[in-house]
Parts: sequence; structure tokens; C-alpha cells
Amino acid sequence: MARLLPFSARGQLLKGLCASGLLLLCSGALSAQQYDLLIKNGHVLDPGSEIDGVLDVAVKGDAIAEIALNIPADQAKKTIDATGLYVTPGLVDLHAHVFGYSGWLWPDDTQLLTGTTTVVDCGGSGWRTFETFKKTVIDRSKTRVLAFLNVVGAGMVGTESDIKDMDAEKLAAKIKEYPGLIVGIKCAHYGRPDYINLEQAVKAGNIAGVPIIVDNSILSNTDRDTKTKLLEYFRPGDIHTHMFNDRHLEIIDRFSGKIQPYMYEAREKGRLLDVGHGAGSFVWPNAAKIMKQGFYPDTISTDLHNSSIFTTKADMPNVMSKMMALGMSLKEAVFRSTARPAQVISKYPEIGSLAKGRTADIAVLELQDGYFGFADSWGKKQTATRRLHAVMTVRAGELVLDEKGLGFPEWDTAGDYQRIE
Ligand SMILES: [Zn+2]
Repeated sequence: MARLLPFSARGQLLKGLCASGLLLLCSGALSAQQYDLLIKNGHVLDPGSEIDGVLDVAVKGDAIAEIALNIPADQAKKTIDATGLYVTPGLVDLHAHVFGYSGWLWPDDTQLLTGTTTVVDCGGSGWRTFETFKKTVIDRSKTRVLAFLNVVGAGMVGTESDIKDMDAEKLAAKIKEYPGLIVGIKCAHYGRPDYINLEQAVKAGNIAGVPIIVDNSILSNTDRDTKTKLLEYFRPGDIHTHMFNDRHLEIIDRFSGKIQPYMYEAREKGRLLDVGHGAGSFVWPNAAKIMKQGFYPDTISTDLHNSSIFTTKADMPNVMSKMMALGMSLKEAVFRSTARPAQVISKYPEIGSLAKGRTADIAVLELQDGYFGFADSWGKKQTATRRLHAVMTVRAGELVLDEKGLGFPEWDTAGDYQRIE
């Protein structure tokens, strides 16, 4: 059963609509079937646009045509009743693997199935392999696929500690060649005891004007520590992923359990923290202590690959559910999975918004009540009584997932039987 939330905060909703110029009080004067798709009666939750209430969303072609109260069903070619469901911007996964790594997954088969319409490949390609990535995956996917380019020219199939294959000039040149597709630089899986990969990534980031996203361990043989990494090497807007494992960032003091003072300083200075759940980067006791102190991730992401899709079930709705099990509100979870990641890669409101005129990327989510077990990287679970589940995905106006058949007509027994004969 879907959880039916009261239509609260109507004042806030109307304020948001007016501010966005979206309020349509009378839609009767418009011509018949002018919309291709109409999602009616859903609880529209678009925190970036301050929209939070029961509304109808109309789509024409590949764009959001209208968000309003009571858009008549006869104005659309296809109408879907989303009563009891949440309608949000298509989810944005800032960290997943869709190229150049042995465990990469085809984005349409994985992301679109979970309400996720934009995925950023996190370092699979480098400046020497990006063209292949574009030709074989980006251009062939319905999912909007963007890229963090690896600091290593060969990408993840190369050795990510190979400093000879790090060329900041060539990396920056490739980023400038594809400003719509390449949104930043990834440096990760670095085995040397220094910061050379970070230095090269920052150098290229400064030339191209993009952020870096970092996976960078602080184990005792690395000669690295959290404070130096975040405060001396990172710039405002740079992102550290895998924030909830216990070997990339020392967010909490291991003895007192309190957030380290330098983490507050890092946050004040604009350093960003991403979930990057994966198979190995989410540990319940660590996450629980961090979340309990209100130290929430800036962005929710999956690090989805051929292992994490099974072992920890790290898809977007499931990772959002885990955040909610640790105290994050649904609205905050949606914000950190839509508008916020889009802002971080300078793509908001082009992405992550349901505002009129934007590309019609939409997720329809069910907040299920029940008894659910959520696994972590240590093979432990936390149980919870709520879970988010994607029942519908619209990508650029096309209804690509309709798990419940909400957009299908009922079958006509007599008519269908006659057709078979
Ligand atoms: Zn990853």
C-alpha cells in the first residue's frame, strides 16, 4: 500500500508555483488533447522548485508543458492516475559505472528501471577513451549519460596509479571539447603514497573550470589524511565520494564518535560529500553515527556496478530509502537525488527540475509500508518499515517504465478474443 500523505503546506506549494510562474487556475480554454501525457493526482515533489503537493503534470513532446491543479483528462492523449504516488524530477545518479570497467552496466537496463534518467559515469573513460565511450554508450542510450573523465588517459581499464598517463593539458582539452557531456574529473583507486593524482586532477579542473570527484583512501600505508586532502588539495565545489565507508574519510573521531572539527571547516569551505554507495562503501555503524549528528551527504549516488546492484542493491530508490531509515526526510532525499546533484555539475535547472519547459524527465515513486531489510558492505542489515520504489520513469517525454501498467487500458475480453480468432 502506498503511504498517503496529507496535502499539507498548501501555502508553501502555492508560493512555489507562483514563484516559478507555473500556476494555472483555468485550463479549460485550451484545445483538446494538446498534451501527449498527463500524470494526474500524484503528490508532486520537486524540492528545487519548491513544489510539494497534489498536482497534475502535463507533457508535450519531450518537455514539461504544464504543472497545475485539475488539468482535464480529455486534454491528453494518455492520462495516468498517480493517486497515492510521488511524482519527482527524474533521479540523477552522480556516481555509477556505465563504461570502461569490468563491472559496468548498460544504463537503460539499470537506471531507467529505477526512476533514474541521468547518470554520470564516474571515471570509466579517460581523455584517450572518451570518444569510444560516446560512440558505444552515450549516443546509444535513452538515459542521459554524462561523464566524469578519469585523470588517467586510459580511464579505469588503465592503471589508475599510472602517473605517466596523467596529462592535465590533454585532459582539460577533451573536457572543453564536450562541455555538455563531460562535467568533471574523477581520480580514484590510487596506490601511490602521495597526492600526485589529485594535483593533476585539480590542475586540469582549473584549466577546464570543472570540479573533481575523488575516491582516495587514507589507510596507514598511503601517507594521506582527511584534513590535508580536503582542506589543502580540494577546491570549493570539489566532491569526495564514498563518504560512509571507513577508509576514505575520517568524518568521525573513532573514540568520541563525534564529527571531526575539520569536517565542519571543510563543509564551510564548500567541499562536497557524496554517498557513492557501491558494494564496499556503506557501513551502517559509521553512517548511523554521521547521520545522527545531522551531517548529511550533499548528493545521493549509487556507485552501481555488477556487484553492488546485487550485494547491497545500491540503486537510487534503495539508497534514498537507507538515508531515510537514518532520519533524512523524503523531501531532503529527493532534493539530494535531483536538484542538488544537478547543481553540483552546473546542470540545474536544465536537469533535476519539473519546471514548465524543462525536459520531461520524471520519476513516479511509491513509498511502500512494510518490513524491509537493507544490507550494508559488511553484510549487516538494518530493518525499516518504509521503502521507496520506482513504478514509472519518463525520459524526455517517453514513458519508458510503467511497472504497474498505470498507462495501459484495461483489456477487453470479448474484443481481444475476437482478434485472436
Ligand atoms: Zn565507483
